[in-house]
Amino acid sequence: MLFNHIFHPEKSDREILEVIGSAIGIEERRWKAENTLTSLAYSDSLTGIPNRAIFFDRLQHEISICGRTKSRFAVFFVDIDNLKRINDSLGHSVGDRIIQTAAKRLSLCVRSEDTLARMSGDEFTIIFRETTGHETAENLARRITECLNQPVEWREDNLTTGASVGIALYPNDGADAQTLLRNADKAMYQAKLHGRNTYCFFDASFSEET
Ligand code: GH3
Ligand code: MG
Repeated sequence: MLFNHIFHPEKSDREILEVIGSAIGIEERRWKAENTLTSLAYSDSLTGIPNRAIFFDRLQHEISICGRTKSRFAVFFVDIDNLKRINDSLGHSVGDRIIQTAAKRLSLCVRSEDTLARMSGDEFTIIFRETTGHETAENLARRITECLNQPVEWREDNLTTGASVGIALYPNDGADAQTLLRNADKAMYQAKLHGRNTYCFFDASFSEET
């Protein structure tokens, strides 16, 4: 081997290959460790879906694209109903199971180009891309409330929860990330007031009420 003869005349080809192999191994392990750190920084540890930081990043990105192309999208704010009651009566681990099941079910409701994230606690947010209007967003809202209202198996029992969903549409309900999310949250709060396990679109009158 040329490398061997020029730089390490005392080493055999085999020894040189071992040194190169071990350097590649170190590089691969470093690469894997960096990937793990990146996914820990951007995904939620309980559910494995994107966290708040990545959600805001994607929301800013979506706003900049849709601002340029004059297209629309929707932000969904989803909050599980009465999770405290489940935690208090059956324990925190059962509450965790409800949150994990909700994340799985929500991920089946959205398309790969959408973003689903766990904002905090029992709150999830969605960027629903290329929303053609009220009706497509409403279809998704209906699908979400139906999915999250399905029983969750627990021991020999079934637990039934639900979720309240608020929707804000870009650009009508907000031109920046904070306003859109705040208005989706306000709409979710209205869904709670309407008896939970339902959805509500943001309306400008909510701004004065809440
Ligand atoms: P609401 O119907 O109004 O949404 O009431 P809620 O009982 O679901 O309570 P709320 O949404 O106001 O607050 C979320 C609760 O979820 C607070 C806390 O007890 C619980 N919680 C937050 N994070 C976790 C978690 O990681 N695991 C579990 N098991 N519970 C959590
Ligand atoms: Mg809740």
